Amino acid sequence: MPTTTNSSATRSALVPDSAAGQTHPTPEFLADLAAHSARLETAEPEEIITWAHQHYAPQLTMATAFGPEGCVILSMLAKIAPATHVFNLDTGYQFQQTLDLRDRIAEKYGVEVEMLQPELSVPEYEAMHNGPLYKTNPTQCCFDRKIRVLQRGIQGKQAWMSGIRRDQSADRAQAAIVGWDMKFGMVKISPLANWTKQDVWKRILEAKVPYNPLHDQDYPSIGCWPCTRAVRQGETDQRAGRWSGTEKTECGLHTIPESDGSGI
Ligand code: SF4
Repeated sequence: MPTTTNSSATRSALVPDSAAGQTHPTPEFLADLAAHSARLETAEPEEIITWAHQHYAPQLTMATAFGPEGCVILSMLAKIAPATHVFNLDTGYQFQQTLDLRDRIAEKYGVEVEMLQPELSVPEYEAMHNGPLYKTNPTQCCFDRKIRVLQRGIQGKQAWMSGIRRDQSADRAQAAIVGWDMKFGMVKISPLANWTKQDVWKRILEAKVPYNPLHDQDYPSIGCWPCTRAVRQGETDQRAGRWSGTEKTECGLHTIPESDGSGI
């Protein structure tokens, strides 16, 4: 039977790999996570968040880009575990409406989202690359301004939560409720994996959860302004406006590891 009572038993199953200098999960630990994930398949997001808090706080964190899913989770966290560490990957290229949403969330729920920035400011970064790198190498830009920053945000943590849903894209369809994140070497929890877009918006409207006004202007998915456009009539893919015109569909946060972090 999987461990269900406390975090210490779960953590003790992690076996550090001293050769690699990283922590790697044992097969037993992965089986334990899979069993928890299977049990939580039918759980409401609030129950999943409560489970995550019981097992991993205070080494639990959450990354949010202030999308509809993130805002819904923040509204739940405010009731369940308001002291949970939450951070945003503040690339320097976010829409002003996204930055304003941070303040609206803080005002309504008292949850302060930490804005984590890359080491180099946008002017410094663009000067180093003789112009905006998102135009010529968005994969590297995402790696430098998102992945590296996320690596900093999760330091000292054992689990992170994200707002991904399985129906968002083919890349996300395999997401577990609870699983091992190979890329970042920690547990990943996706409380809304089983929710649909309709479920999310029903909650937003019923509970009056603050959301990004760009969603009312045909931006179903919002990232950095240079790499996001409104969807066009007839486009059914909710992420069609992300990295439009390129092969890129993800920044790399929610995909299998690759050497350079390509993906999201
Ligand atoms: S989404 Fe675009 S601007 Fe933002 S980090 Fe990625 S490539 Fe750079």
